[in-house]
Amino acid sequence: MTAKDGAIVAIDGPAGAGKSTAARLLAERLGYVLIDTGALYRAVALAAKERGIAWDDAEALGALTASLELRFEPPEAGARPPLLVDGEDRSTDIRAPDISQGASQVSAHPPVRAALLGVQRAMGEAGGCVLEGRDIGTVVFPNADVKVFLTASLDSRVGRRFDELVGAGAETDRDAVRAEMETRDARDSGREVAPLKPADDAVRLDSTDLDLEEVVERLAAIVREAGFSAR
Ligand code: C5P
Repeated sequence: MTAKDGAIVAIDGPAGAGKSTAARLLAERLGYVLIDTGALYRAVALAAKERGIAWDDAEALGALTASLELRFEPPEAGARPPLLVDGEDRSTDIRAPDISQGASQVSAHPPVRAALLGVQRAMGEAGGCVLEGRDIGTVVFPNADVKVFLTASLDSRVGRRFDELVGAGAETDRDAVRAEMETRDARDSGREVAPLKPADDAVRLDSTDLDLEEVVERLAAIVREAGFSAR
């Protein structure tokens, strides 16, 4: 990858660390494409649910994943790139709380990860992109130009996710959000394939005491220090 095409920027970390908004704003600032890899796992969970495939049926899920056509559309200003699943915009449906759990379950199966590996690499290999996920710097693009592991304390991650859900009109309470997050963290970090963990060469950024703007500033500085600028 040359500086001319723009960097491959990998941002990994647990749920609620502020990855998605920060990655989106960073991509906008750099003029890069945002690739929200969690959305792909969510699409698999949603498609499985709709077709009556259990979230623990590794083999059927692998075949399903390979059969899906997954594509991000260019976003409207200030929004995430819409995800098209077999040509249909499913961006809202994949955000339902049961699909969060489903995504975490289906993502533990090697056939699902294997099928999405090629999809993610094809989306990002040209560079000029920010990929947001759990294993981008370790597995998907181990040679990414920039790797950041974005984390935050459990309390602040719960607080952020709670505000986000309430803001979106969901009825929930902090204890439920905390329980959901702890289950997902344990599953994502404990799985055998591509567990959530920082790459050895990732820059670690703790967002507990930073506001969104500060996080984006730090990310932009990390990209700049790696020798890449906006395109
Ligand atoms: O980031 P998001 O919350 O949308 O991800 C949903 C789930 O997809 C995560 O809990 C994780 O299990 C899975 N995931 C993954 N690898 C990625 C991105 C997401 O396993 N690169």
